[in-house]
Amino acid sequence: MPLRIRFVLWYGGLFVVILFVVMGLSYAFHVRSHYDALDHALITSADHAANEPISELDSPRLERIGADLEVSLRLYDANGTLLETTAKAGEFSPSSPQAILAVPAKPPFDPIANLVPSILERPHTTEGAFGVISDGGRRWRIYVLPLKQDGYIEVLVSLDALDRAVRALRIVMAVLGLIGLAAAVLGSWAVASRALLPITVVDKTARSIALSRNFSQRVPLPARHDELGHLAETLNEMLASLQAAYYAQQRFVADASHELRAPLTIIQGNLELFARHQNISEGERQEMLSEIQKETVRLSRLVADLLTLARADSGTGLRQYPVELDAIVLTAFREGNQLAHGQTLVLDTFEPVQIIGDEDRLKQLMLILLDNAIKYTASGGQVRVELHRKANTAEIVVQDTGIGIPAEALPHIFDRFYRADPARSHDPGGTGLGLSIARWITEQHKGRIAVTSTLGEGTAIRVFLPIGQL
Ligand code: ATP
Ligand code: MG
Repeated sequence: MPLRIRFVLWYGGLFVVILFVVMGLSYAFHVRSHYDALDHALITSADHAANEPISELDSPRLERIGADLEVSLRLYDANGTLLETTAKAGEFSPSSPQAILAVPAKPPFDPIANLVPSILERPHTTEGAFGVISDGGRRWRIYVLPLKQDGYIEVLVSLDALDRAVRALRIVMAVLGLIGLAAAVLGSWAVASRALLPITVVDKTARSIALSRNFSQRVPLPARHDELGHLAETLNEMLASLQAAYYAQQRFVADASHELRAPLTIIQGNLELFARHQNISEGERQEMLSEIQKETVRLSRLVADLLTLARADSGTGLRQYPVELDAIVLTAFREGNQLAHGQTLVLDTFEPVQIIGDEDRLKQLMLILLDNAIKYTASGGQVRVELHRKANTAEIVVQDTGIGIPAEALPHIFDRFYRADPARSHDPGGTGLGLSIARWITEQHKGRIAVTSTLGEGTAIRVFLPIGQL
């Protein structure tokens, strides 16, 4: 069910319940007090007549007693035979006082009014009884009081006027109730529409972004800074970060395709040469084959790197178990030695350290650092590797005497596909993914990677890994 309709049902429903309770109570007390006032007059007049000697209660006397409170009186003997009556009550057939006394009626006028207690104090009476009798569509309220001197006095009042007024009041109340109901529904609909308008706008914008994939769109901020304003702000922040991630992903795919294309073009070119020229010299053949092989290796390394980064992006964690970091560094150092072509690799301070981590990934990290150090250091240079054990941290240092990194490039070297300019002339084969993978591996071990470098003098990369439990 739409929120707006639920809002109307709750708000309008509550309003209507309150309206009906208030209207019902005021109707009930109002009507009840009017009917009670009549009963009051009947009792008072009956008491008045009962105080007179029965012999003096002739019709004129009864007329006078009833005149004050506009009631009619009738006098019966002990057998219930009508003796005297006022003129008005005379038009009306005699009742049976004994029958009314036998089955006294409570206030029976109106079902709603009967629900509330009387607010008028009743005059004290013990013997009398009330009744309601109808005659030709007219209702009479009747009160019968047995007299001490044998006989009954009966006081009557027509309910005509009051019944008409109560009927009119009911109609007025019903009309007012309907107007109140309509006002409640319309009012709550208007309030709900106004309150939900910003949500509708947010919904439309979000839908249009979803359809167009245009993450540069923003949700318009409502003028007031309330919960909805806050929601719009949060959505905009989310859109900004989605936009950044989306563009980064697009750039990554574009860069990756670009990098993949270069080796493929070289391989394809060489293969076409093979196909076209039958009589290639053995020397040329070897050269072409070694180029194809070199590019194939580069291609598979690139694919492996991309796979690693895809895993990193998907949030795949690393394995965690105790590993001998010194053994890993040593293995990588030995493998690094085979990459060297004229550079000297030196193992300096080397302390045994055990940490919790992923052996294969830590070795990959070491090889990335050694590969860079060797790649960007000219033949005759030196690469020094250190492993320190500090209080709660293991520190790996890979330092070289290579070309160094320009200061302006330093903040970017951990970005994907980033390569500082001097590196390009030294090694056209790199793709700029090594250090971004190194940083991911370090962060997965809750560690930190830092670089210091001086252009033309050398570079030092430091990796700090926590020794304690991950
Ligand atoms: P890849 O490692 O993917 O083959 P790459 O070595 O160019 O390519 P990274 O390892 O990410 O990429 O390094 C990024 C850049 O940082 C390098 O291109 C280079 O400019 C610079 N760099 C990294 N290590 C060194 C270093 N030891 N000496 C000088 N420059 C370095
Ligand atoms: Mg590298």
